[in-house]
Amino acid sequence: NHSSLPWHQKPQAISNNSSPAMKFIRSRVEKMSERWIQAGLRMKESSNNTVSTQMRVLLYPGALSGSVGQRFEAMVERGGPLGELVQWADLSACLTILGHNLIFSTSQHQLHSLIGAAPGRGSCPIQRPLTFDLIYTDYHGLAHLQGAMGLAFKHYQCRFRILDSFGTEPAFNFASYARSHGYKTLWGSWDLQPLQYMTMFPHTPDNSFLGFVSEGTVRKGSELEPVSYKKDRIAVVYGKQDYMWQGKYEYVKVISEELETHATVYQPPGHTLHLPSLIRNHGLLTQEHFQQLLRKAKLFVGLGFPYEGPAPIEAIGMGCVFIQPRFDPPHSSASNDFYKGKPTTRQISSQHPYAEEFIGKPYVWTVDVTNKSDIREAVKAILRSEVKSFTPQEFTCVGMLKRVLGYITHQVQRCKKAQACPELETPGTPTSLLTKNFKSVPTWPPKSALRVHLAPLGQSCVSVCRRSSLMCEPALFHHLNTPAAFTRLGLSCASVLPELNHLFPSYSPWGRQCGLQQEPLLFSCVAICLDCL
Ligand code: UDP
Repeated sequence: NHSSLPWHQKPQAISNNSSPAMKFIRSRVEKMSERWIQAGLRMKESSNNTVSTQMRVLLYPGALSGSVGQRFEAMVERGGPLGELVQWADLSACLTILGHNLIFSTSQHQLHSLIGAAPGRGSCPIQRPLTFDLIYTDYHGLAHLQGAMGLAFKHYQCRFRILDSFGTEPAFNFASYARSHGYKTLWGSWDLQPLQYMTMFPHTPDNSFLGFVSEGTVRKGSELEPVSYKKDRIAVVYGKQDYMWQGKYEYVKVISEELETHATVYQPPGHTLHLPSLIRNHGLLTQEHFQQLLRKAKLFVGLGFPYEGPAPIEAIGMGCVFIQPRFDPPHSSASNDFYKGKPTTRQISSQHPYAEEFIGKPYVWTVDVTNKSDIREAVKAILRSEVKSFTPQEFTCVGMLKRVLGYITHQVQRCKKAQACPELETPGTPTSLLTKNFKSVPTWPPKSALRVHLAPLGQSCVSVCRRSSLMCEPALFHHLNTPAAFTRLGLSCASVLPELNHLFPSYSPWGRQCGLQQEPLLFSCVAICLDCL
């Protein structure tokens, strides 16, 4: 009986439904609808308090609109990136199941009629109050929103949520700091709260991990129950375009000596692919057919690119073992063309660091792909192993529902406070409304959850917390940003300096200087003092 669920309406789509991207999104949502419904019912049963206020939500993937959209659309059926579409599909389904009222638009023109500013009158230039409680968009969409909303853009910015696969670190987000400290990049510099950026994987607690749902078959029991798929001696190579295979033939050859090796590489008309001869290429498959292949396969083979996509999590969810290249030295925005300009200093230790760090063996093998005997040994060990399907809880429908419900409940409350001020901020005001109200905001999680550790020099809060099985929680930073916090750690400060510095609050043993953070937007879980090493 689905009628007892909280949702009432389907999302209203204002976009070209026949575009390849919209077809992909629609087909994914339809295919997974039964799973979402079951998960919604399970959530409802296990919680007596799932009723939350219905919100009006706009979903606006800017990457699908305008000229950027045309380029993106052109690649959807030619091996281009699909990860973002997976996320937009799952976010729409998730918000619908949570009972919210959605409008999904990919048209810049329609954006103007939905939220466009009207001419100013008197002292208050906001003529049209924003009728959406939340707007999910991406970096491209932010620029479109700014164009459409004019001055109201700043006023309503706390309602924005940015789908940002790889994440935005605080030092890159705070525009004046980024400019003066060498963190200015193509993206970033929007002065949002770092938690407004929503990532594909849990890269940093400074941002919000949105994630997606890893598909498996619909199961009667728990989504987490492992399934034993009947496996053939088959490997599937992860790489939809042939350039991704360059320099990897020897590695793939070793694998194809042990397993029948399949590929899903897009073949442009009239173009010959240069794949190793033993490979059975199916061409780009629909998601459904791709997943059928994964259900039969024993091994999913990462080539090193694409980075950090959803497919390895899906493959592991279908009982495959994922083998992938280790990057030594790691890839980063300083050393790698793909990450260049991305607002992150992350060091990428393999094609899929989440799979490497949070899943690991027996599901994930990270290998040196230049060492043939290591690869061969790994493949033989994998073939001897019996591995069932595995889906981390955060990639199930229930996991995503709980997470998004948590964000909507807690992050919106913060924003409501910040929006209490009715005046429109004038451009150029140094402190944003959001920042001004940040300190007075009641925090979630509560202060009682705080445990304080002093990190050794050159380590981030994330790494020191992980070692103690804790999490760096940005909402609690302001409790550490006082002279008393240093005293509590047994540190005596010769001086206490308030400063704009993404490393602060921190203690410098040279001269016993205690640094306090002057700008809450710069609190950072991942900042590392490189000069200290
Ligand atoms: N996928 C597909 N057909 C294929 C290969 C992959 O539909 O032939 C799907 C796959 O199921 C996954 C999505 O493409 O959900 C994105 O996968 P990937 O990890 O490759 O991320 P991307 O680099 O495309 O963002």
